[in-house]
Amino acid sequence: MAKKKDEHCAFCGRPKSETTLLVSGMEGQICNFCIEQSKLILEEETAGQFEAPDIKKSVLKPKEIKAFLDQYVIDQDEAKKVLAVAVYNHYKRIAQKDDENEVEIEKSNIVLVGETGTGKTLLARSIARMLHVPFAIADATVLTEAGYVGEDVESILTRLLQSADYNVAAAEKGIIFIDEIDKIARKSDNPSITRDVSGEGVQQALLKLLEGTNVNVPPQGGRKHPEQKLITVNTKNILFIAGGAFQGINRIIAQRLRTNVVGYSFAGHKEDSVDKDHLLQYVAPGDLKKYGLIPEIVGRLPVLSYLNPLSKNALKRILVEPKNAITKQFVKLFDMDGVDLSFDDAVLKYIVEKSIEFKLGARGLRSIMEAILIDAMFEFPSQKNAKKLRVTLDYAEGKFGNASLAKLKAAI
Ligand code: ADP
Repeated sequence: MAKKKDEHCAFCGRPKSETTLLVSGMEGQICNFCIEQSKLILEEETAGQFEAPDIKKSVLKPKEIKAFLDQYVIDQDEAKKVLAVAVYNHYKRIAQKDDENEVEIEKSNIVLVGETGTGKTLLARSIARMLHVPFAIADATVLTEAGYVGEDVESILTRLLQSADYNVAAAEKGIIFIDEIDKIARKSDNPSITRDVSGEGVQQALLKLLEGTNVNVPPQGGRKHPEQKLITVNTKNILFIAGGAFQGINRIIAQRLRTNVVGYSFAGHKEDSVDKDHLLQYVAPGDLKKYGLIPEIVGRLPVLSYLNPLSKNALKRILVEPKNAITKQFVKLFDMDGVDLSFDDAVLKYIVEKSIEFKLGARGLRSIMEAILIDAMFEFPSQKNAKKLRVTLDYAEGKFGNASLAKLKAAI
């Protein structure tokens, strides 16, 4: 008869009787305590480590990137496609060996044009999530030239470093989203007439980052810590995605298409070949220059795409479909208190209509939902027998009074 295996943990020596579980391997066994301990060690060791995506192994193909984005972002197919290709090419470029004889692949920084709340930031954030690279959002409106009140352009890199847990190598392969790039446009495209110093100065400072350079970054940011040791970050392989609403750019596009926006007469164009209601799809680099971005910046943002305004249907889908859709989040929150939350379809329509009525767009959906559910979220956890909340149109209308509008608007 085979000798009964000596059952104990090969790591800590505990006999089986003192463990909850012994997992057998080829040579020995490991107990639940040691598994847990190992997990902690693993988590500690790998915390904050970002691995640069390896193009051969881990970077998804453009179609897969788009499929990933589809899980989080509704519609905007054109922008997704362009982004997917740009990101794929970006990581191919990074994977390229430094060799003078090689063809140098230019960096594919991206600029997205579209109304606020259409998903520009969400797209950039989702790309970073997919790639597991550090990600930072910078608001172009707070940036100023060095020496002026406001944030220096380097502060963008401080944020990226922080998001990378100060792992410089990881930060150097991260993604930066520059929001409201249109707000630093020069006020006229003729530089000699109205020189808008702060806007153009910031653009010049940004240009250096976009081009790829070594920047000395204050790790704590700001000018409050003059004693801090600067960290050098090279921006050559950082992917920049800029976004802006570029309000009024339709007129520039229309002009270029030689259309008359008022009368829609299409001189030189077959009228039905131009979709007059969606002029943004024809946006070209020249339009951004005309809008007031300096040509050098436009040149350094070679990939250009646009986002459509969100339709009613898209807003409704945003409420229910994305992986972390708003309704799913609230269902989960209630579920944690043992409450089964559900919404009538009419409520979803109502939320969308209110969001459009108050011009809140996609950003308003969450706030309106909060306003409807705030009382329930306050009351339910203390109610012993509450097991179910079905949100009907009556319930929603009752909770969402006009009184809350001012609060809503302030919150967005
Ligand atoms: P933008 O950067 O274009 O101003 P955001 O990406 O910040 O807009 O969108 C604000 C919020 O609205 C997002 O966090 C998301 O909840 C929602 N949202 C906007 N557009 C979409 C979309 N196309 N798909 C899913 N959610 C969206």
